[in-house]
Amino acid sequence: MGTYVYDFDQGNKDQRDLLGGKGAGLAEMTNLGLPVPPGFTISTDACRAFLEEGTEPAGLEDEVDDHLRALEERMGRRLGDADDPLLVSVRSGAKFSMPGMMETVLDVGLNDESVVGLARQSGDERFAADSYRRLLQMFGTTVLGIDGEAFSDRMDAGDQLDAEQLRAVIEDFKAIIRERTGHDFPQEPREQLRQAIRAVFTSWNTPRAVLYRRQEQIPDDLGTAVNVQAMVFGNRGETSGSGVAFTRDPATGDQGVYGDYLPNAQGEDVVAGIRNTVSIADLAELDRTSYDDLLRIMAVLEKHYRDMCDLEFTVEDGHLWMLQTRVGKRTAEAAVRIAADMVDEGLIDEDEALRRVTGEQLGALMFPRFAPDPDRTPVTTGMNASPGAAVGKVVLDSETAVEWAARGEDVILVRKETNPDDLRGMVAARGVLTSRGGKTSHAAVVARGMGRTCVCGAEAVEIDLPARRFTIRGGPVVEEGDVVSIDGGTGEVFLGEVPVSDPAVVRRLEGEDVEDPVADVVVRLLERADAVRRLGVRANADTPEDARRARRFGAGGIGLCRTEHMFLGERRELVEHLIVAEDPAGQESALTGLGPLQRQDFTEILAAMDGLPVTVRLIDPPLHEFLPDLTDLSVRVALEDERHAEDEHDHQLLAAVRRLHEENPMLGLRGVRLGIVIPGLFDMQARAIAEAAADRIAAGGDPRPEIMVPLVASERELALVRAQLEKVVEAVAEERGLTLEIPIGTMIELPRAAVTADRIATVADFFSFGTNDLTQTTWGFSRDDVEAAFFPAYRDHGIFPVSPFESLDVDGVGELVRTAVRLGRGERPDLHLGVCGEHGGDPASIHFFDEVGLDYVSCSPFRVPVARWEAARAALG
Ligand code: PEP
Ligand code: MG
Repeated sequence: MGTYVYDFDQGNKDQRDLLGGKGAGLAEMTNLGLPVPPGFTISTDACRAFLEEGTEPAGLEDEVDDHLRALEERMGRRLGDADDPLLVSVRSGAKFSMPGMMETVLDVGLNDESVVGLARQSGDERFAADSYRRLLQMFGTTVLGIDGEAFSDRMDAGDQLDAEQLRAVIEDFKAIIRERTGHDFPQEPREQLRQAIRAVFTSWNTPRAVLYRRQEQIPDDLGTAVNVQAMVFGNRGETSGSGVAFTRDPATGDQGVYGDYLPNAQGEDVVAGIRNTVSIADLAELDRTSYDDLLRIMAVLEKHYRDMCDLEFTVEDGHLWMLQTRVGKRTAEAAVRIAADMVDEGLIDEDEALRRVTGEQLGALMFPRFAPDPDRTPVTTGMNASPGAAVGKVVLDSETAVEWAARGEDVILVRKETNPDDLRGMVAARGVLTSRGGKTSHAAVVARGMGRTCVCGAEAVEIDLPARRFTIRGGPVVEEGDVVSIDGGTGEVFLGEVPVSDPAVVRRLEGEDVEDPVADVVVRLLERADAVRRLGVRANADTPEDARRARRFGAGGIGLCRTEHMFLGERRELVEHLIVAEDPAGQESALTGLGPLQRQDFTEILAAMDGLPVTVRLIDPPLHEFLPDLTDLSVRVALEDERHAEDEHDHQLLAAVRRLHEENPMLGLRGVRLGIVIPGLFDMQARAIAEAAADRIAAGGDPRPEIMVPLVASERELALVRAQLEKVVEAVAEERGLTLEIPIGTMIELPRAAVTADRIATVADFFSFGTNDLTQTTWGFSRDDVEAAFFPAYRDHGIFPVSPFESLDVDGVGELVRTAVRLGRGERPDLHLGVCGEHGGDPASIHFFDEVGLDYVSCSPFRVPVARWEAARAALG
């Protein structure tokens, strides 16, 4: 076996790293005995070597020669032979699918002589000429880099041209190539092949491929494989065609054949959405034998892969050929349905079903949908290509989409069809609407891949690009900038803004009795997830309402109850009094006002979480956040003074605001530092917590509060505060004649805390990692400012693939978490450990927290089901 090239019968489906997804699938199908045109795969190793060296690595050309010779022998034809030519396709195929992002060249081997041979051998002059013009066009654009417009102008009436006219087009195309490149189109077939392979290698690094990888978080150093395969022709008249099919519906998960077929066409025509396709069911009418073959092959593939597969095929003169298969992309809804159906069919077990559906997909099922309304009528309906509800202003090209989205507008990208250059626009848009193409068109595939709402093939939409508007045939005119709403679940398009509502999954989790197959499966698999997972899941909830919802969603307690919002609204005035108070008596009186209000807050939350832990974090933000803005207040006081209407309170307040003003408030007087400087504040909160617990006990409840101190850097800080808090709790217990056991712990959100965690553990009953602040202080990134300021540039330069505020920076911040876990547990083996930063609801981060041995993650109520799911997937490995 060679170093770089493998015949299809030498590989298998598990070699996607080496052979790319397409190569691995072709190899697997070949070994299954399915009808695959023979060929070979040039490995991703060769691509990486080519990109590194800038030329073919030593030995590659010889290996290609050897495999080409073997292919020629097998086919009984020679590449580009003048009498009876073998023609090959040259296709890219990376490990991860990158639809339409890289290059393909078909009909390699045709030249001025072999086109005559092809015509004679096929008995179809028009077909031969059309194939040659396709090669010139594809080779010209993809290999030689000539602008596609140069060719397409001549091809407007392509379908109607006869052989004679096509021959004229061929001469024109050859002339274009000569003019634009200074060279003739290479007539030598082996040279065509060499250049086509190079073009595929090189296309790994085109800007659109790079952008797609960044969007999909595909590593840049994988490279693509190149598949060289004997051509079969779907464009040999009405007994031929090309199609794309799924073994189940990729949008809904429904069982049954599913896909698009285009008679008398080559594969690229189907995906490009250039002509509208017919459904696979129609193939049964057109060509029963091929249809039956296709169904048989689909059943073989599904059983073999034990998953929904997608496939590409070509029918040549009534004979079916398989050109690709892989485990198919699907919507979140379909993923859930297919996984559960396959459990019921005995193909997989429930654990495998959990592995196959990501927490992110479950999260997508919880996004709002359009509220049902029988009176609302769509202006038109297209295909439900990728679900979701999207509302936004119409934009008619990708540039506008990017521009408007950058200024904060929600936009819907409306195009006749999309092509790979539209990727930026699709990323920027809330949803995509096309007037042409099926569910396997570029727009549909890419939108599903990135979870973007998409309605495609809405044929009544007639776009008038120069006038910047579209017309719904027989109906209204929609100008660019008008608001439309599109429903990717039904394919409906509405004018204006349609209100959105909770989807069935959310309603079911909320306890409503909704009938919905997807919700059924989610509930069933979440039960299994709870049985499998090791990590606990709590919620970040600050109000009784959030606490109740979190509990309905399956939270095992509250991991973070932020208390600062309890000081806003009408209570702000009491806080102002506290801050401006000049002596302990003044502070005392303000705190006395706040105490009972706080107690009420906690009583309700403890009631909502009866029997479950509730971690209450003492007040954390800088105090100036509770005071008026310095400039506003200065102006107010100046105006009052000018009008001789001096206000003493405002003067005091202004003095306090000036005194508390900080250049870097996030690094200033906040967290535990407040507890040390204004001890009465933490005492008041501790008393409110203890009294609320006592009230709940008196009412027959089972309160489990925990007190959490924020922003601790040194064990001394925590020791000081802890002594105070314990005193307060003991006092309340004594007053009420009860025992109150309230654990006192700390957040680990500063690097110093992480690296001295052993010492901090001597005075903490638990740690909760505040990974928001820990990320901020580890990177030195202001969490409020940097995301917009320079993160896009950081992602462009590959400094990180996603914001470290979204997904934990495992190498840096994660290392601090690891250290703190090791030191903390070393000092105190029973130390309870959790995380309550945003990362607690992020799938990748949850896997990390499971691995380092935390006891629980805490996240917003809506992420709780996602965290339960991902925690199970982490445990299943
Ligand atoms: C954190 O820093 O991770 C945290 C949970 O606290 P906050 O976001 O309130 O600062
Ligand atoms: Mg914090």
